[in-house]
Amino acid sequence: MRLYEHEAKALARDAGIPVPRGRLVATAAEAEDAAASLGSPVVVKAQVPVGGRGKAGGIRFADEPAIAREAAAELLAGQLRGFTVSSVLVEERLDISEEYYVGITIDEIAKRPVVMVGRGGGMGVEEAAAKGVEFARCHIDPFIGLQPFMARDLALTLTRTKAVSSATDVVVRLYRLYQAYDATLAEINPLVLTADGRVVAADCRMEIDDDALFRQRGRLTAMGIPIRQEAARPPTDLERRAAEIDNIDHRGVAGRVVEFDGDIALIIGGGGASLTTFDAILRYGGHPANYCEIGGNPTVRKVRELTRLLMLKPGVRSLAVITNVLSNTRVDLVARGVIKGLLDVGIDPSTFPIVVRSSGSWEDEGYRILDKYGIKWFDRTHSMDEAAEYIVKLARRREATLGDTD
Ligand code: GDP
Ligand code: MN
Repeated sequence: MRLYEHEAKALARDAGIPVPRGRLVATAAEAEDAAASLGSPVVVKAQVPVGGRGKAGGIRFADEPAIAREAAAELLAGQLRGFTVSSVLVEERLDISEEYYVGITIDEIAKRPVVMVGRGGGMGVEEAAAKGVEFARCHIDPFIGLQPFMARDLALTLTRTKAVSSATDVVVRLYRLYQAYDATLAEINPLVLTADGRVVAADCRMEIDDDALFRQRGRLTAMGIPIRQEAARPPTDLERRAAEIDNIDHRGVAGRVVEFDGDIALIIGGGGASLTTFDAILRYGGHPANYCEIGGNPTVRKVRELTRLLMLKPGVRSLAVITNVLSNTRVDLVARGVIKGLLDVGIDPSTFPIVVRSSGSWEDEGYRILDKYGIKWFDRTHSMDEAAEYIVKLARRREATLGDTD
Protein backbone atom coordinates (compact mmCIF):
# COMPACT_ATOMS: atom_id res chain seq x y z
CA MET A 1 0.00 0.00 0.00
CA ARG A 2 1.39 3.33 -1.02
CA LEU A 3 1.27 6.12 1.50
CA TYR A 4 0.64 9.73 0.66
CA GLU A 5 3.44 12.18 1.34
CA HIS A 6 1.67 13.60 4.37
CA GLU A 7 1.19 10.10 5.81
CA ALA A 8 4.80 9.09 5.25
CA LYS A 9 5.89 12.37 6.79
CA ALA A 10 3.73 11.77 9.85
CA LEU A 11 5.52 8.44 10.33
CA ALA A 12 8.90 10.05 9.66
CA ARG A 13 8.22 12.77 12.21
CA ASP A 14 7.15 10.13 14.71
CA ALA A 15 10.43 8.30 14.03
CA GLY A 16 12.40 11.45 14.84
CA ILE A 17 13.23 12.53 11.29
CA PRO A 18 13.02 16.32 10.83
CA VAL A 19 10.20 17.29 8.44
CA PRO A 20 8.95 20.77 7.52
CA ARG A 21 6.18 22.35 9.57
CA GLY A 22 2.96 22.05 7.66
CA ARG A 23 -0.72 21.28 7.54
CA LEU A 24 -2.88 19.06 5.38
CA VAL A 25 -5.94 20.86 4.00
CA ALA A 26 -8.82 20.07 1.66
CA THR A 27 -9.98 23.54 0.58
CA ALA A 28 -8.41 26.70 -0.80
CA ALA A 29 -9.63 28.74 2.19
CA GLU A 30 -7.95 26.34 4.60
CA ALA A 31 -4.77 26.56 2.53
CA GLU A 32 -4.74 30.35 2.89
CA ASP A 33 -5.31 29.99 6.60
CA ALA A 34 -2.52 27.40 6.92
CA ALA A 35 -0.10 29.63 5.00
CA ALA A 36 -0.99 32.59 7.23
CA SER A 37 -0.43 30.60 10.41
CA LEU A 38 2.88 29.19 9.16
CA GLY A 39 3.89 32.83 8.76
CA SER A 40 6.46 32.27 6.02
CA PRO A 41 6.65 31.56 2.30
CA VAL A 42 5.11 28.14 1.71
CA VAL A 43 5.06 25.20 -0.67
CA VAL A 44 1.63 23.87 -1.67
CA LYS A 45 1.89 20.18 -2.55
CA ALA A 46 -0.75 18.06 -4.25
CA GLN A 47 -1.33 14.80 -2.37
CA VAL A 48 -1.42 11.89 -4.81
CA PRO A 49 0.11 8.48 -4.16
CA VAL A 50 2.80 8.81 -6.84
CA GLY A 51 6.00 10.80 -7.26
CA GLY A 52 7.03 13.10 -10.08
CA ARG A 53 4.57 15.73 -8.91
CA GLY A 54 7.07 18.53 -9.34
CA LYS A 55 7.38 17.93 -13.07
CA ALA A 56 3.64 17.49 -13.45
CA GLY A 57 2.93 20.89 -11.87
CA GLY A 58 1.79 19.53 -8.52
CA ILE A 59 4.27 21.48 -6.37
CA ARG A 60 3.64 25.24 -6.12
CA PHE A 61 5.48 27.98 -4.27
CA ALA A 62 3.64 30.84 -2.62
CA ASP A 63 5.06 33.90 -0.88
CA GLU A 64 1.68 35.14 0.30
CA PRO A 65 -1.32 33.35 1.84
CA ALA A 66 -3.50 34.65 -1.01
CA ILE A 67 -1.18 33.01 -3.55
CA ALA A 68 -1.29 29.77 -1.55
CA ARG A 69 -5.05 29.95 -1.77
CA GLU A 70 -4.96 30.27 -5.56
CA ALA A 71 -2.44 27.45 -5.91
CA ALA A 72 -4.53 25.16 -3.72
CA ALA A 73 -7.69 26.01 -5.66
CA GLU A 74 -5.99 25.09 -8.92
CA LEU A 75 -4.53 21.85 -7.60
CA LEU A 76 -7.77 20.76 -5.95
CA ALA A 77 -9.76 21.44 -9.12
CA GLY A 78 -7.66 19.17 -11.28
CA GLN A 79 -6.12 15.77 -11.67
CA LEU A 80 -2.48 14.94 -11.29
CA ARG A 81 -0.89 11.99 -13.04
CA GLY A 82 -4.32 10.38 -13.32
CA PHE A 83 -5.30 10.89 -9.70
CA THR A 84 -7.90 13.23 -8.25
CA VAL A 85 -6.31 15.68 -5.84
CA SER A 86 -8.49 15.77 -2.75
CA SER A 87 -6.01 17.38 -0.39
CA VAL A 88 -2.89 19.50 -0.44
CA LEU A 89 -0.07 19.82 2.04
CA VAL A 90 0.86 23.39 2.90
CA GLU A 91 4.37 23.54 4.30
CA GLU A 92 6.94 26.11 5.30
CA ARG A 93 9.20 26.67 2.33
CA LEU A 94 12.72 25.51 3.00
CA ASP A 95 15.72 27.52 1.96
CA ILE A 96 17.57 24.72 0.19
CA SER A 97 21.31 24.65 -0.31
CA GLU A 98 21.68 20.98 -1.34
CA GLU A 99 19.34 18.10 -2.23
CA TYR A 100 20.10 14.44 -1.57
CA TYR A 101 18.47 11.13 -2.29
CA VAL A 102 18.03 8.57 0.50
CA GLY A 103 16.04 5.43 -0.17
CA ILE A 104 15.59 1.92 1.19
CA THR A 105 14.01 -0.92 -0.71
CA ILE A 106 14.31 -4.66 -1.25
CA ASP A 107 17.02 -5.87 -3.58
CA GLU A 108 15.23 -8.86 -5.08
CA ILE A 109 18.45 -10.42 -6.31
CA ALA A 110 20.45 -10.02 -3.12
CA LYS A 111 17.24 -10.80 -1.18
CA ARG A 112 18.06 -8.08 1.31
CA PRO A 113 17.12 -4.52 2.01
CA VAL A 114 19.40 -2.07 0.29
CA VAL A 115 20.01 1.50 1.38
CA MET A 116 20.90 3.88 -1.43
CA VAL A 117 22.04 7.45 -1.07
CA GLY A 118 23.17 9.94 -3.66
CA ARG A 119 23.77 13.61 -4.25
CA GLY A 120 21.27 13.65 -7.11
CA GLY A 121 18.31 14.44 -4.89
CA GLY A 122 15.16 16.00 -6.22
CA MET A 123 15.13 14.44 -9.64
CA GLY A 124 13.95 10.91 -10.28
CA VAL A 125 16.47 8.22 -9.36
CA GLU A 126 16.53 6.83 -12.91
CA GLU A 127 17.15 10.27 -14.32
CA ALA A 128 19.89 10.94 -11.78
CA ALA A 129 21.54 7.61 -12.62
CA ALA A 130 21.34 8.46 -16.33
CA LYS A 131 23.10 11.75 -15.61
CA GLY A 132 25.92 9.83 -13.98
CA VAL A 133 25.10 10.69 -10.38
CA GLU A 134 26.89 8.21 -8.14
CA PHE A 135 24.82 6.32 -5.63
CA ALA A 136 26.37 4.66 -2.62
CA ARG A 137 24.71 1.37 -1.73
CA CYS A 138 24.69 -0.71 1.38
CA HIS A 139 22.99 -4.08 1.69
CA ILE A 140 21.65 -4.85 5.12
CA ASP A 141 21.71 -8.17 6.89
CA PRO A 142 18.30 -8.00 8.56
CA PHE A 143 19.60 -9.79 11.64
CA ILE A 144 22.34 -7.23 12.18
CA GLY A 145 20.42 -4.23 10.94
CA LEU A 146 21.89 -0.95 9.77
CA GLN A 147 24.68 -0.10 12.18
CA PRO A 148 25.48 3.57 12.83
CA PHE A 149 28.95 3.26 11.27
CA MET A 150 27.39 2.06 8.01
CA ALA A 151 24.95 4.95 8.06
CA ARG A 152 27.82 7.33 8.66
CA ASP A 153 29.74 5.97 5.67
CA LEU A 154 26.66 6.55 3.54
CA ALA A 155 26.12 10.03 4.94
CA LEU A 156 29.74 10.95 4.22
CA THR A 157 29.07 10.44 0.51
CA LEU A 158 26.35 13.09 0.78
CA THR A 159 28.15 15.78 2.70
CA ARG A 160 31.43 16.46 4.41
CA THR A 161 30.06 19.36 6.41
CA LYS A 162 29.13 19.00 10.06
CA ALA A 163 25.62 18.16 8.85
CA VAL A 164 26.97 14.65 8.39
CA SER A 165 25.87 13.62 11.87
CA SER A 166 22.30 14.79 11.25
CA ALA A 167 22.31 12.98 7.90
CA THR A 168 23.61 9.82 9.61
CA ASP A 169 20.81 10.09 12.12
CA VAL A 170 18.22 10.38 9.35
CA VAL A 171 19.54 7.26 7.60
CA VAL A 172 19.50 5.26 10.86
CA ARG A 173 15.98 6.39 11.70
CA LEU A 174 14.69 5.81 8.18
CA TYR A 175 15.90 2.21 8.31
CA ARG A 176 14.21 1.71 11.67
CA LEU A 177 11.01 3.12 10.22
CA TYR A 178 11.29 0.88 7.16
CA GLN A 179 11.62 -2.19 9.38
CA ALA A 180 9.02 -1.24 11.94
CA TYR A 181 6.31 -0.75 9.34
CA ASP A 182 7.17 -3.69 7.05
CA ALA A 183 7.86 -1.24 4.26
CA THR A 184 8.98 -2.27 0.79
CA LEU A 185 10.04 1.30 0.09
CA ALA A 186 11.02 4.22 2.31
CA GLU A 187 12.41 7.12 0.38
CA ILE A 188 13.34 10.70 1.15
CA ASN A 189 13.82 12.59 -2.09
CA PRO A 190 14.98 15.17 -1.57
CA LEU A 191 16.58 15.14 1.83
CA VAL A 192 17.71 18.73 1.95
CA LEU A 193 20.51 20.60 3.58
CA THR A 194 19.08 24.04 4.34
CA ALA A 195 21.01 27.29 4.10
CA ASP A 196 21.17 27.36 7.90
CA GLY A 197 22.70 23.86 8.05
CA ARG A 198 19.65 21.76 9.02
CA VAL A 199 18.92 18.40 7.41
CA VAL A 200 15.20 18.06 6.62
CA ALA A 201 13.05 15.57 4.69
CA ALA A 202 11.38 17.79 2.07
CA ASP A 203 9.57 14.83 0.53
CA CYS A 204 8.89 11.33 1.80
CA ARG A 205 7.41 8.25 0.18
CA MET A 206 6.62 4.89 1.69
CA GLU A 207 5.07 1.67 0.53
CA ILE A 208 3.92 -0.95 2.98
CA ASP A 209 4.09 -4.63 2.04
CA ASP A 210 0.49 -5.65 1.30
CA ASP A 211 1.15 -9.04 2.83
CA ALA A 212 2.05 -7.37 6.11
CA LEU A 213 -1.00 -5.10 6.30
CA PHE A 214 -2.75 -7.58 8.56
CA ARG A 215 -0.22 -6.89 11.29
CA GLN A 216 0.35 -3.20 10.49
CA ARG A 217 -3.33 -2.31 10.44
CA GLY A 218 -3.47 -1.31 14.10
CA ARG A 219 -0.36 0.87 14.07
CA LEU A 220 -1.25 2.54 10.79
CA THR A 221 -4.80 3.36 11.81
CA ALA A 222 -3.50 4.62 15.15
CA MET A 223 -1.35 7.04 13.11
CA GLY A 224 -4.44 8.15 11.19
CA ILE A 225 -3.58 6.14 8.09
CA PRO A 226 -6.48 4.09 6.71
CA ILE A 227 -5.88 0.75 4.97
CA ARG A 228 -6.58 1.05 1.23
CA GLN A 229 -6.95 -1.34 -1.66
CA GLU A 230 -5.21 0.09 -4.66
CA ALA A 231 -3.82 -0.38 -8.12
CA ALA A 232 -1.22 1.38 -10.23
CA ARG A 233 -3.99 3.51 -11.71
CA PRO A 234 -7.66 4.03 -10.86
CA PRO A 235 -9.81 1.15 -12.16
CA THR A 236 -11.66 1.60 -15.45
CA ASP A 237 -15.45 1.19 -15.64
CA LEU A 238 -15.03 -2.24 -17.16
CA GLU A 239 -12.64 -3.29 -14.38
CA ARG A 240 -15.05 -2.05 -11.75
CA ARG A 241 -17.96 -3.91 -13.32
CA ALA A 242 -15.87 -7.07 -13.64
CA ALA A 243 -15.07 -6.86 -9.93
CA GLU A 244 -18.80 -6.57 -9.19
CA ILE A 245 -19.39 -9.73 -11.20
CA ASP A 246 -16.67 -11.47 -9.22
CA ASN A 247 -18.53 -10.45 -6.08
CA ILE A 248 -21.82 -12.04 -7.16
CA ASP A 249 -20.95 -14.93 -4.90
CA HIS A 250 -17.88 -16.35 -3.27
CA ARG A 251 -17.37 -19.31 -5.58
CA GLY A 252 -14.39 -19.08 -7.91
CA VAL A 253 -12.75 -16.14 -9.63
CA ALA A 254 -14.29 -14.64 -12.74
CA GLY A 255 -13.51 -11.02 -13.20
CA ARG A 256 -10.04 -10.14 -12.07
CA VAL A 257 -9.61 -7.86 -15.05
CA VAL A 258 -7.04 -5.43 -16.36
CA GLU A 259 -8.30 -3.55 -19.38
CA PHE A 260 -6.21 -2.95 -22.53
CA ASP A 261 -7.08 -1.42 -25.86
CA GLY A 262 -6.73 -4.41 -28.21
CA ASP A 263 -9.35 -6.58 -29.94
CA ILE A 264 -8.89 -10.05 -28.41
CA ALA A 265 -10.94 -10.74 -25.30
CA LEU A 266 -9.10 -13.12 -22.97
CA ILE A 267 -10.47 -15.41 -20.31
CA ILE A 268 -7.40 -17.12 -18.99
CA GLY A 269 -6.46 -19.41 -16.14
CA GLY A 270 -4.94 -17.57 -13.20
CA GLY A 271 -1.35 -17.22 -12.06
CA GLY A 272 1.57 -18.21 -14.25
CA ALA A 273 -0.68 -19.75 -16.92
CA SER A 274 -2.42 -16.44 -17.58
CA LEU A 275 0.84 -14.49 -17.74
CA THR A 276 2.30 -17.08 -20.10
CA THR A 277 -0.77 -16.94 -22.30
CA PHE A 278 -0.80 -13.16 -22.34
CA ASP A 279 2.87 -13.10 -23.33
CA ALA A 280 2.24 -15.68 -26.06
CA ILE A 281 -0.58 -13.59 -27.54
CA LEU A 282 1.72 -10.56 -27.61
CA ARG A 283 4.56 -12.56 -29.13
CA TYR A 284 2.35 -13.70 -32.01
CA GLY A 285 1.45 -10.08 -32.63
CA GLY A 286 -2.00 -10.14 -31.05
CA HIS A 287 -3.55 -7.21 -29.18
CA PRO A 288 -5.40 -8.24 -26.01
CA ALA A 289 -8.48 -6.25 -25.09
CA ASN A 290 -8.05 -7.31 -21.49
CA TYR A 291 -6.28 -9.62 -19.12
CA CYS A 292 -8.93 -11.57 -17.26
CA GLU A 293 -8.31 -14.42 -14.88
CA ILE A 294 -10.68 -17.23 -14.22
CA GLY A 295 -10.31 -20.10 -11.78
CA GLY A 296 -11.42 -21.79 -8.60
CA ASN A 297 -14.63 -23.08 -10.20
CA PRO A 298 -16.77 -20.00 -10.69
CA THR A 299 -20.49 -20.46 -11.27
CA VAL A 300 -21.98 -20.51 -14.77
CA ARG A 301 -23.66 -17.23 -13.94
CA LYS A 302 -20.39 -15.50 -13.10
CA VAL A 303 -18.73 -16.72 -16.28
CA ARG A 304 -21.77 -15.77 -18.30
CA GLU A 305 -21.93 -12.21 -16.98
CA LEU A 306 -18.20 -11.80 -17.37
CA THR A 307 -18.27 -13.02 -20.97
CA ARG A 308 -21.11 -10.64 -21.72
CA LEU A 309 -19.18 -7.74 -20.19
CA LEU A 310 -16.01 -8.55 -22.14
CA MET A 311 -17.83 -9.00 -25.44
CA LEU A 312 -19.69 -5.69 -25.12
CA LYS A 313 -16.42 -3.76 -24.98
CA PRO A 314 -16.19 -1.75 -28.19
CA GLY A 315 -13.60 -3.11 -30.60
CA VAL A 316 -13.57 -6.70 -29.34
CA ARG A 317 -13.51 -9.04 -32.33
CA SER A 318 -12.44 -12.39 -30.98
CA LEU A 319 -12.32 -14.41 -27.80
CA ALA A 320 -9.80 -16.84 -26.38
CA VAL A 321 -10.48 -19.00 -23.34
CA ILE A 322 -7.15 -20.51 -22.44
CA THR A 323 -6.26 -22.37 -19.27
CA ASN A 324 -3.79 -24.92 -18.09
CA VAL A 325 -5.03 -28.37 -17.04
CA LEU A 326 -7.76 -27.58 -14.53
CA SER A 327 -8.21 -29.64 -11.40
CA ASN A 328 -10.27 -27.19 -9.41
CA THR A 329 -12.44 -25.73 -12.15
CA ARG A 330 -14.96 -27.58 -14.30
CA VAL A 331 -14.36 -27.22 -18.02
CA ASP A 332 -18.05 -27.79 -18.77
CA LEU A 333 -19.22 -25.01 -16.45
CA VAL A 334 -16.80 -22.57 -18.01
CA ALA A 335 -17.98 -23.64 -21.48
CA ARG A 336 -21.62 -23.20 -20.52
CA GLY A 337 -21.03 -19.75 -19.05
CA VAL A 338 -19.06 -18.57 -22.06
CA ILE A 339 -21.69 -19.82 -24.53
CA LYS A 340 -24.56 -18.27 -22.59
CA GLY A 341 -22.70 -14.96 -22.40
CA LEU A 342 -22.08 -14.96 -26.15
CA LEU A 343 -25.70 -15.78 -26.93
CA ASP A 344 -26.82 -13.02 -24.54
CA VAL A 345 -25.12 -10.40 -26.68
CA GLY A 346 -26.31 -11.90 -29.95
CA ILE A 347 -23.05 -13.53 -31.02
CA ASP A 348 -23.27 -16.77 -33.02
CA PRO A 349 -20.54 -18.94 -31.44
CA SER A 350 -20.22 -21.05 -34.60
CA THR A 351 -19.12 -18.15 -36.77
CA PHE A 352 -17.43 -15.81 -34.30
CA PRO A 353 -13.62 -16.17 -33.92
CA ILE A 354 -13.24 -18.14 -30.68
CA VAL A 355 -10.88 -20.71 -29.35
CA VAL A 356 -11.09 -22.66 -26.12
CA ARG A 357 -8.00 -24.45 -24.88
CA SER A 358 -8.86 -26.06 -21.62
CA SER A 359 -8.71 -29.48 -20.04
CA GLY A 360 -9.16 -31.19 -16.72
CA SER A 361 -12.28 -31.75 -14.64
CA TRP A 362 -15.38 -32.59 -16.68
CA GLU A 363 -13.54 -31.97 -19.94
CA ASP A 364 -15.53 -34.54 -21.98
CA GLU A 365 -18.77 -32.83 -21.08
CA GLY A 366 -17.16 -29.48 -21.83
CA TYR A 367 -15.98 -30.56 -25.29
CA ARG A 368 -19.42 -32.01 -26.05
CA ILE A 369 -21.04 -28.65 -25.31
CA LEU A 370 -18.43 -26.73 -27.30
CA ASP A 371 -18.97 -29.09 -30.26
CA LYS A 372 -22.69 -28.58 -30.06
CA TYR A 373 -22.20 -24.84 -30.55
CA GLY A 374 -19.51 -25.23 -33.20
CA ILE A 375 -16.70 -23.77 -31.10
CA LYS A 376 -13.11 -24.69 -31.90
CA TRP A 377 -11.38 -26.28 -28.92
CA PHE A 378 -8.01 -27.74 -28.06
CA ASP A 379 -7.43 -30.31 -25.36
CA ARG A 380 -4.24 -30.95 -23.42
CA THR A 381 -2.50 -32.46 -26.45
CA HIS A 382 -2.19 -28.90 -27.75
CA SER A 383 -0.25 -26.30 -25.81
CA MET A 384 -1.56 -22.99 -24.56
CA ASP A 385 0.98 -21.48 -26.93
CA GLU A 386 -0.65 -23.14 -29.95
CA ALA A 387 -4.03 -21.83 -28.87
CA ALA A 388 -2.57 -18.33 -28.56
CA GLU A 389 -1.12 -18.55 -32.05
CA TYR A 390 -4.41 -19.85 -33.39
CA ILE A 391 -6.53 -17.00 -31.99
CA VAL A 392 -4.11 -14.34 -33.20
CA LYS A 393 -4.34 -15.78 -36.73
CA LEU A 394 -8.13 -15.87 -36.53
CA ALA A 395 -8.21 -12.29 -35.25
CA ARG A 396 -5.98 -11.16 -38.13
CA ARG A 397 -8.09 -12.93 -40.71
CA ARG A 398 -11.20 -11.36 -39.26
CA GLU A 399 -9.60 -7.94 -39.34
CA ALA A 400 -8.66 -8.46 -43.00
CA THR A 401 -12.24 -9.28 -43.93
CA LEU A 402 -13.86 -6.60 -41.79
CA GLY A 403 -11.40 -3.79 -42.35
CA ASP A 404 -11.96 -1.05 -39.81
CA THR A 405 -15.64 -0.83 -40.35
CA ASP A 406 -17.07 -1.90 -37.02
P1 GDP B 1 7.91 15.04 -6.24
O1 GDP B 1 8.22 15.74 -7.54
O2 GDP B 1 6.57 14.38 -6.29
O3 GDP B 1 8.98 14.11 -5.83
O4 GDP B 1 7.76 16.20 -5.14
P2 GDP B 1 8.82 16.81 -4.11
O5 GDP B 1 8.17 17.01 -2.83
O6 GDP B 1 10.09 16.02 -4.10
O7 GDP B 1 9.10 18.25 -4.74
C1 GDP B 1 9.74 18.41 -5.99
C2 GDP B 1 10.83 19.46 -5.88
O8 GDP B 1 10.29 20.67 -5.41
C3 GDP B 1 11.92 19.12 -4.90
O9 GDP B 1 12.91 18.31 -5.45
C4 GDP B 1 12.48 20.47 -4.56
O10 GDP B 1 13.44 20.86 -5.54
C5 GDP B 1 11.29 21.38 -4.66
N1 GDP B 1 10.82 21.66 -3.30
C6 GDP B 1 9.98 20.93 -2.54
N2 GDP B 1 9.83 21.50 -1.33
C7 GDP B 1 10.59 22.62 -1.32
C8 GDP B 1 10.86 23.64 -0.39
O11 GDP B 1 10.37 23.67 0.73
N3 GDP B 1 11.70 24.64 -0.79
C9 GDP B 1 12.25 24.69 -2.00
N4 GDP B 1 13.05 25.68 -2.34
N5 GDP B 1 12.03 23.74 -2.92
C10 GDP B 1 11.21 22.72 -2.59
MN1 MN C 1 10.29 13.91 -4.37
